[in-house]
Parts: sequence; structure tokens; C-alpha cells
Amino acid sequence: MTTPTHCPYCALQCGMNVAAGGVITPREDVPANGGALCQKGWTAGELLSSPERLTTPLMRTGGELVPVDWETALSRITGEIRRIQAGHGPDGVAVFGGGGLTNEKAYQLGKFARVALRTSNIDYNGRFCMSSAAAAAQRAFGLDRGLPFPVTDLARADVVLLAGGNVAETMPPFVRHLAEARRRGGRLIVIDPRETATARQADLHLRLTPGTDLALALGLLHLVIADGHADEEYIAARTTGWAEIASSVSAYWPERVERVTGVPAADLRRAARLLGAPGNRVILTARGAEQQSKGTDTVTAFINLALALGLPGTPGSGWGCVTGQGNGQGGREHGQKADQLPGYRRIDDPAAREHVARVWGVDPADLPGPGPSAYELLDSLGGEGGPRALLVFGSNPAVSAPRAGRIARRLRALDFLCVSDLVLSETAALADVVLPAAQWAEEDGTMTNLEGRVLRRRRAVEPPPGVRTDLWVLAELAVRLGARGFRREPYDVFEELRRASAGGAADYSGIGYERLDREGGVFWPCPAEGHPGTPRVFLDRFATPDGRARFVPVDHRAPAEDVDEEYPLYLTTGRVLAQYQSGAQTRRIRPLAEAAPEPFVELHPDLAERLALAPGDRARVTSRRGTAEAPVRISTAIRPDTVFMPFHWPGANLLTSDALDPVSRMPEFKVCAVRVQAARPVEVAP
Ligand code: SF4
Repeated sequence: MTTPTHCPYCALQCGMNVAAGGVITPREDVPANGGALCQKGWTAGELLSSPERLTTPLMRTGGELVPVDWETALSRITGEIRRIQAGHGPDGVAVFGGGGLTNEKAYQLGKFARVALRTSNIDYNGRFCMSSAAAAAQRAFGLDRGLPFPVTDLARADVVLLAGGNVAETMPPFVRHLAEARRRGGRLIVIDPRETATARQADLHLRLTPGTDLALALGLLHLVIADGHADEEYIAARTTGWAEIASSVSAYWPERVERVTGVPAADLRRAARLLGAPGNRVILTARGAEQQSKGTDTVTAFINLALALGLPGTPGSGWGCVTGQGNGQGGREHGQKADQLPGYRRIDDPAAREHVARVWGVDPADLPGPGPSAYELLDSLGGEGGPRALLVFGSNPAVSAPRAGRIARRLRALDFLCVSDLVLSETAALADVVLPAAQWAEEDGTMTNLEGRVLRRRRAVEPPPGVRTDLWVLAELAVRLGARGFRREPYDVFEELRRASAGGAADYSGIGYERLDREGGVFWPCPAEGHPGTPRVFLDRFATPDGRARFVPVDHRAPAEDVDEEYPLYLTTGRVLAQYQSGAQTRRIRPLAEAAPEPFVELHPDLAERLALAPGDRARVTSRRGTAEAPVRISTAIRPDTVFMPFHWPGANLLTSDALDPVSRMPEFKVCAVRVQAARPVEVAP
């Protein structure tokens, strides 16, 4: 017997069948992947029976993590919460979630923090994923749905511009849609400092200096206006703020943009001409453009470009964000973000508080206000006035947070750390209590993919004895802390989520498990049972008070940390085909570990020669925050002024910058200054 469900990893949420023994086969009936899977998906079943799987709670005793029963573990957790909150108040305990949690878990986690703990200190690792795109979409359109149209629309595009995404490695089946567009004569433009597998498929690769995407977008808009390609009719009918835009980009003539970005003026002109031609055109942004200390403004500049061309809300065209994490979209809609309540409501909105408090059966005045963003929360742990305890669900911040060495020290400074995970991740290894969690194919739930399509995740196998679901854990802890109304079953939690989201921007009230089972997936917003869902938002109006999209003038600025004599090279980080996020799961899957066994430092041949480094030599990379070592790979895919490291292993994020975007609070993962030298073996005196 096989069970139809979806992949545990990225936001494409490919459909797959799971058979006995965790054998995976692709599903043909899911439009996002249409019968294709990447290597990560094909091998996802291996983790179900991995010997590295946690199957019993662990508690630190005498410095070691030793197995204990559930009663002992839960009693210790609630005892620590009570003790710490008695001394430090509700905010003495913090919660950190993940963009891979199901909608039910993300919802329950947000409710647990606000109702059972009454803490404002909750955020999640999705802040590190697409928060800049979300912030830019909110200010332009009044709504953040990663792709405001089905991913299959891409196959009909005449031009796709992809800024800062390497989908050929991160979500290979996504490339099918781009390939179909190209087969029909469409063109692909890729903006990336590296000649990635995706850039190699492009008709035009704009290989910019890291951290200059914003200048490039402003330069393209300058050319679109200068060449007369702005869609005046659309601008007049559907937008506001255009008057200031032309002057805001007047200084970004091609030769100046070439000096800033390193992209030849002729290539900029060619890109603008392609974008300006009639037809279906789509502009996509991803982490390369977004994970910067000016990520919100960078995405805003691409949205301004899309609006000037008349794309958003036009069938077949548009702007969208290629969300990364499996439930990066749903995870940000239901309340595990510091400033949000379910349904994509703001926690500082009195009407939203009133509505959600009624569903939760509490007084709105008892709900805490907004808390700090993910990095600020992690950086405050164990410090003066900061939380003394942290509960982590589905995240590995000791590897995935920027400036990870500092964050590991903050985690060690806590009085109490509890981690719920499938395996002993680097963060779990620091914990006082570790809880063994059920994983994707062992539980029911829903995920919302990068298109805003809500999907059913189904239980295909029994979890190992001793393993519990996060919903069960949160309900047990809530009861012991004296809170009521926490359900254990995914169906019941989703029914409550539907009511909590009703009337919000991300309205799921018309979506139920039975309907998802019948229809395969439903696009939000879906405000009633008979509502068809909304595959394409913005067709008639944008979600702003006047229904018009807003142009927002923005200006380029340098990265928070530029290169200098001491740190003369840019570091940019990213992914490889066979690993996912912090690697906690994929590093433990044999075929993936064989395909991508270790991190590396990618250097251009000219730079490698200057540094006297050969392939396989160990390089030491140093930034102002730390040092990491890895074997050298030499490739002309990287610019001579830039080095690349994948972030799936501990190391790369010891180097990355914790400069934050002022709006989204996104850290600047994608660019910092480093120096590289050979890591000579330490000679030990005889
Ligand atoms: Fe599909 Fe992403 Fe899973 Fe690969 S990792 S199979 S692209 S959902």
C-alpha cells in the first residue's frame, strides 16, 4: 500500500507516494512537480529508519545526555519553566520554531507561547528565509503570498528574470517550468555572482558583485523608463507613487551601474530590452537578493520594476518570491513569527487580538505584544534581561544562524535549553532536554507550498515506539502549565486554525482536510467552504486600502561590511544539490552524504593561484566573526573577488554577518568580507 503525501524538504512540496519501508515514488498528479523528484526527495525515506533517529527523551545528567522516560522529561521542562518564569517573568522563557513545521504545529507553537507561556519571545528560522520578500510584498501589495500565481504559469512566460536563486540545485523540478517556457521560445535571465547550474541554463547571466542587486534593479528600471517600456496605462490604473520613481532611478544610468555591479552596460541594456518587449513576463527574487541588510529595499526595487512593466496582477505575468523552506509560506501565516497572530494578522492590531483571543478563550489583554526578531532573540539568550530558557522546535540555529559561534555561546549561556528534533542536531547536542519528534511521513497535517497552495501531508508509517508528535508535546506541556484548549490531533488543530484565520489576510476558513483530500490542494485566501480558492491574487485589485499597488522609492547602498585591505574578498554562501538547510537530516542520509560529503571553499583559478592553493588543499577562511576551514574547489563559476561556501555544515555561518535589514530584520547572509589562506597543519614540537 502506498500513501500519497509531499516531500519533507523544500517549498516546492513535490508530491510523492510513500510505500512500506519508506520507499518513495513521485506523484504525477501534483502540478508543482508533475512526476519529478530531486535526489533529496527520492531518498527522504531513509531517515525514517535511520539508526541516528532519536527514539527516547534525553536529559543532561552529570554533563551527559542520558535516556529518560517522557514523564521525567516533561516534568523537568515544566519545572524549569515555572522556576524561571517565577524569577524572570513570562518573557524569561522563549520559543524558537521552524519553517518546516506543518501549519498545525506552527499554529500550536504560536498559541502555546502566547497562551501557555504568555511570552512575547517567539520567532522562527523562516525569518532567515524570505522575510525581506514578505516585507517588500506587504508594503507594495498589502499582502505577502510568495508566488501570487500558480508555479505552472511560468511555463507560459516569454521572459523570466530570476534574481539570486539557484533552483537547478535547490528545487530541480521547478526548472521543468522554466525549461518548458524556453522550449516555447521564452528567455531566462539569471542574476547571480556565481555561474550556478541555473545560470548555465540562462539566455543571459548577469554576474554581479555580491551585494549590488539593488543597484542592478534600479539600473534596469532606469533603462525601462528611458527606452519607453513603462506601461503608462497600467501604472495610471493600478498603482500609486509613480511620480517619484523616475527621479529616484535617474542617476542609475548603465555605465554607472556597470561600475557598481560589475555587469557590462551592454548586458543591462539587453536585459531591459527583453523585459520591455510585449508578452508574459515574470520577475522572481530569491535568497541571493533577499538575504542582505538591504534585502527589503532590493526586493522593492524588483517589484517597482515589475510594476513599471505592468506585470503584477496581469494574467501570465507578475512578480514572485521563490520561497525556500518546506512550509516557509504557511509557517509565516499562523503565528510563530514575533509580530503575528494566525491568519497573517498583526499582533499589535486590537481587532486581530480580539478575534484570536476569542477563538483561544482568553482575554485579549492577556496576549503579549510583539517580540524581537529571530537573530535579536537568539542574541539576547542568557544575557542581561534576556530569556533564561529556550524551547526549540524543528530548527538548528547553532548551524543555521548568522554569526553562529556567538549564537552557540548564547545557547550555552541559558539556564535551560529544550530541543525537539528527529536527530541529535548540533543545537540538540547543547540541550538539557531533547525530545524525539515524529517526522513528516509519520504524522498528518498540512503544508502551504511556495504558490500559497495548501496541501495534505499524510501519515504513511507509524512513528517508532517512544516517539511523540510536537502537537502532543505542546498539549501535554500546556496542560501541566495550567492552560486549556490545546488539541493533540492535527485535524482538530487545523479546524481551530481555520476559525482563527477567518477574516485574516491568509484566510483558510474554507479549507478542510476532506476538501484537500478531494481536490489535492487549495490556494488561500479561501474564506468559505464553497469558495474556489484564489490561484491568482491581485487580478482585480491589490490588498491595499485603495486597491492599488504602491511604488516605493529606494536607493542603493553598500553592504554593511565591504571588503578592505584586511578582509579583501567577498564571501557568499548557498546550497548544493544533495543537501538541505543546516543538513541535520540530509547529512544523515547515505546517498546524499556520499554525493555531498563535506563543505568546501570555492575559489576562482586566478585567486587560487595568488593564494598558492590547489584543489583539495585546506583553506582557512576568516571574517571579523570567526574562522572556518574546508577543502578547496577551484572553478571559473565564481568571480575572482568572491569565495563561496555552502552552509549545510557547521562552518560557513561562523563567518557570516549579523547586520540586519531595518524592516524585515533579515541578516546579511549573502555578503561579508573575508580573507583566505592555506590552513597549514599545526606542527607539534617533539
Ligand atoms: Fe521536490 Fe524540493 Fe523535495 Fe526536491 S527537496 S523533491 S525539489 S520538494
